[in-house]
Amino acid sequence: MTTDEVVDPVCGEVFPPHLAVFSSMKGDHKVFFCSSTCKDTYDAAPDKYPDLKSTDA
Ligand SMILES: [Zn+2]
Repeated sequence: MTTDEVVDPVCGEVFPPHLAVFSSMKGDHKVFFCSSTCKDTYDAAPDKYPDLKSTDA
């Protein structure tokens, strides 16, 4: 099991953060997305998505 993976909260896809070109800040942590579509969806209603995983800077 690796710890260096992030979850796209919109579609649930799991991937390593270095592949995530799209990201957004929520509070004090970063949220990653697989595509601009997911990012736009998230940014439109961030409170709709629970914090699946937080990443430390
Ligand atoms: Zn996605």
